[in-house]
Amino acid sequence: MRVYVGAPYGAAGRVKDVHGLLRSIGCEPTSHWAEFATSEVEILKDSSARQHRAQWHINQDCLDSSEAMLVLSEPTGGAELFAEVGRALCIGRPVLWTGPRRILSCYAPGMVVLQSVSDALDRLAGAAKVPRESRRDVLLAGFQGRGHILCPRCGHDDVRSTAFSGDGSLAWKCHRCDAMFPRTTPKTDSAS
Ligand SMILES: [Zn+2]
Repeated sequence: MRVYVGAPYGAAGRVKDVHGLLRSIGCEPTSHWAEFATSEVEILKDSSARQHRAQWHINQDCLDSSEAMLVLSEPTGGAELFAEVGRALCIGRPVLWTGPRRILSCYAPGMVVLQSVSDALDRLAGAAKVPRESRRDVLLAGFQGRGHILCPRCGHDDVRSTAFSGDGSLAWKCHRCDAMFPRTTPKTDSAS
């Protein structure tokens, strides 16, 4: 199972250590950015725009081709990490979040906030052992049904706001049954 590790740029060394741990549980790390990180701070110069754009594309390809994202958050930093988390949630990749930082997206459907990297590795190891179609459920186990929007057709809570309906307005879309419904009539469960 391919797993993308996101972290502040300065934590690339830690990411490389986690790559080793991922391999030991049968996962393939795809966060190649960490292997090529060259400094403690990501320095972006306008004069290197073409190079930066190429790197952005590589990172997106690595993320998109993965089945899950593992976040190593730190007290500061991570601006690009947060952009990647948004993308992962939008395209339906479960995000396993570790570390001290909290952002609003930590409470999004598809997000799993865990106590430690070790907990995240346990969850990833479990998912790597089951067929591909079951991995999402294993990764998100216990992290659904927490006040999220429920699908009016099938009742499932794996509903996202990123799809657009035919007229271009934002709509909810059920990941399970593909039903689309307007954002003005959400139905929520009462669990906290
Ligand atoms: Zn549904």
